[in-house]
Formats: sequence, structure tokens, C-alpha cells
Amino acid sequence: MSRIPSSLYQPQPQSPSSDDTAQLLAPSASWTIEDSEELYRIQGWGDPYFSINAAGHITVSPQGERGGSLDLYELVQALQQRNLGLPILIRFSDILQDRLERLQACFAKAIARYRYGGVYRGVFPVKCNQQRHLVEDLVRFGSPHQFGLEAGSKPELLIALATLNTPGSLLICNGYKDREYIETAMLGQRLGQVPIIVLEQQEEVDLVIQASHHLDIQPVLGVRVKLSSQGIGRWGSSAGDRAKFGLTIPEVLTVVERLRQENMLDCLQLLHFHIGSQISAISVIKDALREASRIYVELAALGANMRYLDVGGGLGVDYDGSKTNFHASKNYSIQNYANDVVAEVKEACASRHLTPPTLISESGRAIASHQSVLVFDVLGSSDVPTGATLEPPGEDDHPLVRELYETYANIGLKNYQEVYHDALQFKEEAISLFSFGYLSLTERATLERLFWACCAKICTIIRHEDYVPDDLEDLEKIMASIYYINLSVFQSAPDAWAIGQLFPIMPIHRLDEEPSCRATLADLTCDSDGKNRPIYRSPGCQISTRVASLNSGEPYYLGLFLGEPTRRLWGNLPQPVRRHQLQSTSNLTPIRLSDRTCSQRGHHDRKVLGYVQYDSEDLVENIRRRTEQALQDRQITLHESQLLLQHYEHSAWVRYTYLARPRQ
Ligand SMILES: *Cc1c(COP(=O)(O)O)cnc(C)c1O
Repeated sequence: MSRIPSSLYQPQPQSPSSDDTAQLLAPSASWTIEDSEELYRIQGWGDPYFSINAAGHITVSPQGERGGSLDLYELVQALQQRNLGLPILIRFSDILQDRLERLQACFAKAIARYRYGGVYRGVFPVKCNQQRHLVEDLVRFGSPHQFGLEAGSKPELLIALATLNTPGSLLICNGYKDREYIETAMLGQRLGQVPIIVLEQQEEVDLVIQASHHLDIQPVLGVRVKLSSQGIGRWGSSAGDRAKFGLTIPEVLTVVERLRQENMLDCLQLLHFHIGSQISAISVIKDALREASRIYVELAALGANMRYLDVGGGLGVDYDGSKTNFHASKNYSIQNYANDVVAEVKEACASRHLTPPTLISESGRAIASHQSVLVFDVLGSSDVPTGATLEPPGEDDHPLVRELYETYANIGLKNYQEVYHDALQFKEEAISLFSFGYLSLTERATLERLFWACCAKICTIIRHEDYVPDDLEDLEKIMASIYYINLSVFQSAPDAWAIGQLFPIMPIHRLDEEPSCRATLADLTCDSDGKNRPIYRSPGCQISTRVASLNSGEPYYLGLFLGEPTRRLWGNLPQPVRRHQLQSTSNLTPIRLSDRTCSQRGHHDRKVLGYVQYDSEDLVENIRRRTEQALQDRQITLHESQLLLQHYEHSAWVRYTYLARPRQ
């Protein structure tokens, strides 16, 4: 652990001022919540769920424009009174439902607008958030739309098989597959699921053919194709010719021929592509759609029984609120996206008089990002040493002290750039005089304090200037305080830790006050080199976040938005996860407008499955019950049911030890 500096909760020094800067130095009385809205760009990334109320607190409207709202600050205080400590992750499942409904509505509108002859069936990629109640909520909210799930690994397949219970919804099976995965997925058909096995590697065709003969089941198959249109999102390199997943065009043709030989070309019904996550530019999506639609109609022409086109994920989230094609933003709306998908596919099919396919998208972050807020507090700060008081020097003080004070007192709008260089020179002089024994330690301290006071005053001036001279650009960065936050980035926001993702982060209260400090936020995890690394950036500021100064004894809460802690990595790992990935993070609190009473305490050091709150015994029990039902309905044979349960239990308990209950 790093030590917290002793300057905890010290009030920010007020510098004396005697000239034209006096007005600038006083905290602005005219600061309004609109100024805060603009500074943190909350409308850009938060609308319609997050806004600022008259009290200067963040309010949450979990149902968007359609419903009520609650005061986030008051909620956090109430939760703390119930002994739920910080950091706390608050979930708003109404937001989740609203996101899903919005996506559905946009596709419905696009389908009506273009008189598209097919339907839309969304699926949620389980890897984006495996939390049990989230996946269960999505299945429930999505059932009127036959919303399905996408699995990208065997553990995710187990979760999806046990959770998805909407008749007719799709279960897309992606990712690395072995025989056991493939057989388990095929047997899912017998439970009334609609599993579609998407071939991503050439070897998988033969495994599928063998399994199909062995089980005497006709699977529904898809192919994931590598498009030549390259994604430019942060994960853009997962598309294109060199991508790890997916088949090249020659490989797709080999698969078609293999299936034709086996008389199974009828099984091939789906074309899938995924050009990467967080695609910022709509033009990239359009290019991919055009290419994929062409491949789709060609596959139909080759004799495949094409019925589905799965456009993957990639629908972006505007993290910085700028609505641009910057990597943390996006330059299109969900409606633009849906329109483009529908229009492109319609056109390609019309040109060949083909029945248009059922459209599938695997939007993860666009559905699941908004529903949670991670709230944490500031433990303390480390400021540059301007000192609490700056007394005018007396006759006995060192001449250098007197001169620098004079300089400080005369900083004004006209001379600040020049004065900055003078101050730098004074500081250097002080250090060399000290080294040669002409300056006492006390005198050096006074000079340093004066130097920082000059910088602080200059900073205040340049914040109000339209143009900042080059040589002063870094001053703000140097002057920023460090705010130590009660959060382990690694545990609570692994995305930020792993890939430098940018999330909006801002105070959740005191937003009617001018944020007088700039601070770099540092968490309390210790690097191997023992330094705290600065982590987050806030929208509207390049380097540091603008925050209010800490008031002694009063907590200061910040919120991290759009940053549900995902476990992207382990979902696809065929190995038990490493121990640090098992650690639980924050307290977890689901909130629904209608029911605000339930909450769950965070668990520490539970197995990963515990982290996402599945109990493997529950999962197995669920599958066992369904299998028995299917047996009664004569949908599955005794042999098949034994095999399914055997595979399921084997996967859940033995191979994937991280899915296992600890056995004492
Ligand atoms: C990650 C992933 C997704 C989800 O992507 P988002 O950009 O979060 O929508 C969908 N499909 C596949 C195959 C993925 O790997």
C-alpha cells in the first residue's frame, strides 16, 4: 500500500492578491449547474439517464424520459447508512431494459421504414457482462422480442444454456470449440433451444460433421467470415485478413464443399462477422455491411440454405460525449446504425430476388454500459507546497525572498508570461545559493512556497485566457493536485487498467460550485515500481479532472460512468483464471425504481463463478430439470440426455475448475 500524505483534507490555500487579478482569484459566485454540465459534457454521454439537479447533485433517470428520477448523492448516503461501504457499484436495471427496448425500437423503425421483409433478433454477448442477474434480467426484458444470447466460450455456453428460456430466441455459439462444446450445443436443440454453431476455424467443420453423425442431429450452422474491411475501433485489429477468429474466403468455400460432400449444406444458414468493438465511424460499419451482404447472397447462390445474417458487435458508446469518430466516441446514433444494417442487406437481397434474412446483432456495450455507476470517495490529496499563508517579507528577510515576493505581488494580466520565467530563474538561483551555503533551509522553503504561489496565480489567469502561450501549457499539469481515490482500478475497472479505456468520471455532488482544483486521480494499488499511476481522464479536460477542493471532514464522492467492470479476458480462457482475477471488487447494489430494497454485499475471495454469482450446482440442476422435461415430452432420448448431463457436469465441474464449487 502506498502511504497517504499527511496533508489530508487541508483546505486549499487562499493567496492574497492586490491587483487586477483579485477578481479572478475569488471563487466565482456566478457558477451554475449549466457550467458543470458543459464542463463534464454530461449531456453528451449521459443523456437521457444522467443529469444535474438544482442542488448540484447528479440525478439518475433510469427509464430515460419516460419515468422518474432519483438523486444519486442522496442514494449513496442512504446506502452508506446501511453499512454498504465505498466503492460501491450501483446498478439500475431499468436502464438496462431501456437500452434493450431502444435497440429493438430502432430496428423495428428501420424495418418499417425500408419495408424490410425479415425480422430482427438481437442477442447479448455474455462475455460483455456475465453477472448472473444481468444476464437473467436481459433474458426476461428481452422475451417479448425473442432476444437471445451469444456465447463465446464453453463457460458462457453453460450459462446461456441454463439461462435462456425464451421460446424461439437464438443461442449463437461462437469462439473456440472442441467436440464437447459442439455436442453440448447440438444437444441444446433437444431442450428446445435454437443453438447456431458458428464455424470460426477450419478444423471445426470436421468436428461438427462427426458430432452430427454421432448424435444423429442436424445442427444449424454459421460461418464467421474475415472481412477485408478493417475496423478502426480500439479492437480493430480483430478484423481483417490477419484476425485470429473467422474464416478467409477460400476457407469459407472449403467449408461449403465439405458440407456439400456430407450432404449437410442445408445446415449452413448463417453468416457472421464481427469487425471489432466500439466502432467509432459509421462509414466503417457500412463498408463491412456491403461486403458481408455480398458474401451472403453468394453463399445462397452456392446452395447454402441462408436464413440469418449476424452483424456482430461494434455498436459504439459515446464515452467522451463529443459525438465524433475519436476512439472513445462515435459519430452515429443507434437509429443510423439500424437503418444502415437494414438498408444494405435489403438492397443486396433485392438484387438477387432473395428472401431477406433474419437480422442478428450482438451489441454488448451499447446495451450494458449505461446501467451502472461506480461511486468512490477521495481519501486525501497531495498538493504543491504553496503553504497556507504568505506573509509579506520583513526587512531582515533574504533579498531574494523580498524580490520574489515583489514579483509575486505584481503578477497581472499583462506580464504573467514574463513573470513565470523570472520566477523560474529565482527558483534556480535559490537552489544554487542553498548548495553553496548562502541560504538557510527555512529561507529555501519560503522561496519554494513563493515560487508555487506565483505558479498558482499565473494558472488562475491563464484559465480565463483564450490563448495560452506554449511555454505555459504544461503549468496546469505541474500544478495539479493528486487526489487519492478509494478504488483499485485493477479490480473495479479492468478495462481501464488493461487498455487505457477512457470513461467519464466526475463528482456526483457540489456541482453548483466552481471546481477550483485540477487533480490527477491516483488509486491505491501499488505498482511494481511502487508508484501510483494516474488513471482516469475526465471529459472536457485533457490531463486532469476539475474537482472541488476537499473540505475538512466532509466526504467527496466521484462517480465512474459507463464502466461496468467487465471480465473480457477470462471468458475465453480455457484455463482456470489466475488468482487476482478471482478477487471480488466493490459492493454490488442493483436498484430498480419499483423496488429499491434489495442489495447484495460484495463477496471477497470467492471463486469467479461466485463473482458473477452463478452456483454451478444451480446450473446443473437447471439443465437436469429441463432434460427430464424433454424426456417426458419425448424430445430427447435417454442416451442423449445422459450424454448432455455428462458433458454439462464435466464442463462445469472438472475441466473448468473456476466454475467449480470449492470442495472441502
Ligand atoms: C466482444 C464481442 C461482441 C460485443 O461487442 P460490442 O462492441 O460490445 O457490442 C460481439 N460479438 C463478438 C464475437 C465479440 O467478440
